[in-house]
Amino acid sequence: MAYDNDNIFAKILRGEVPCHKVFEDDRTFAFLDVMPRSHGHTLVIPKAQATGFTDIDDQDLAYLMKSVQSLAPLVVEGVGAEGFMLQQFNGLAAGQTVFHLHIHIVPRWADQALKAHGKEMEDQDVLAANAEKIRTVVSANLG
Ligand code: 5GP
Repeated sequence: MAYDNDNIFAKILRGEVPCHKVFEDDRTFAFLDVMPRSHGHTLVIPKAQATGFTDIDDQDLAYLMKSVQSLAPLVVEGVGAEGFMLQQFNGLAAGQTVFHLHIHIVPRWADQALKAHGKEMEDQDVLAANAEKIRTVVSANLG
């Protein structure tokens, strides 16, 4: 599938659509999912144009995964979770709805069930509060 430069994450990257950003560097960008499966559900995306997991060059993929590895424990600490789950969907049949590669970091608590994938819009104040908690930990650790 060709990359669509008007997908919602491309617009977020260009600053045309607002988001609750928690991290950015030269090659990656991270922000909260508006329909989170749990508190602090974060999406990490490459700045490179890639529709899915097999459409990105080796270096950008390695960099993306390194960002995910660095951010995941900081997201967990930020929202006081007990663990995290990674998710990544490729193709409509697999549940992908936005065709700009993204890795989901989903914080987990042992006693809390996950919400459904991409179904329920979160309150903006809740997202803002969770993003602030995560940014505090991210800026303390990644500068
Ligand atoms: P996918 O199903 O493609 O793996 O996941 C796309 C994710 O993007 C879903 O979890 C959905 O909730 C999230 N999402 C969809 N539109 C927006 C948006 O405009 N802003 C943000 N922050 N997340 C979005």
